[in-house]
Amino acid sequence: MNKKTDHQWEIEKLKELKQLKNKPSLLMHSCCAVCNSWPLEYLYSVFDITLYYNNSNIYPQSEYDHRLGELHKYVDLFNENHKTNITIIEEPYDYETYHKTYLVKRSEDREGAQRCGMCYALRITEALKYASVHKFDYVTTVMTISRQKSADKINGIARKLATGYPEVHYFYSNFKKEKGIDFSVNVSKGLGIYRQEYCGCEYSTDNLHEE
Ligand code: SF4
Repeated sequence: MNKKTDHQWEIEKLKELKQLKNKPSLLMHSCCAVCNSWPLEYLYSVFDITLYYNNSNIYPQSEYDHRLGELHKYVDLFNENHKTNITIIEEPYDYETYHKTYLVKRSEDREGAQRCGMCYALRITEALKYASVHKFDYVTTVMTISRQKSADKINGIARKLATGYPEVHYFYSNFKKEKGIDFSVNVSKGLGIYRQEYCGCEYSTDNLHEE
């Protein structure tokens, strides 16, 4: 028998959750406005969403601030248009420590390899911890929408980490599917929302591409 893919699981889970009387809460790890655009559109009618901006991987600080500013701009617009009240939790930014403690140890890795796996895992772990402490029903990350990132890899990492937080459900996703990619491109072009040309850390600035 064929194993269910994460995307099939996602579709079935959404059907099930739509039947609930009350929306479950979802903590959504967010990295920027364009990556967040489709996940918000796709899930806001099913979940009570809170965004979690925790990205000490972004270099330099001006880039971090710019991405956060654009996210606020997009979420304000989204709330106005959809009559929602989505808020953003911001964790403190500390690239220096993040770089010294983690990234520099895998500085030679190509993008998408072990350094990135570690970077996804660190941010997913912090989202799981926050969701657990603050009693969210579900947690996820928007990173699966990136054309440069493997949804299978991110979901695989999350699956292992989530076993340590049985009180929170992880929402496995592939936000590239459905209308994800086209939607995010249209948001960036149509609304003039900033779309960065590198993933985040200083090593990724050698590999410019649209996220
Ligand atoms: S390229 Fe992106 S995911 Fe990979 S280590 Fe750098 S910031 Fe993290």
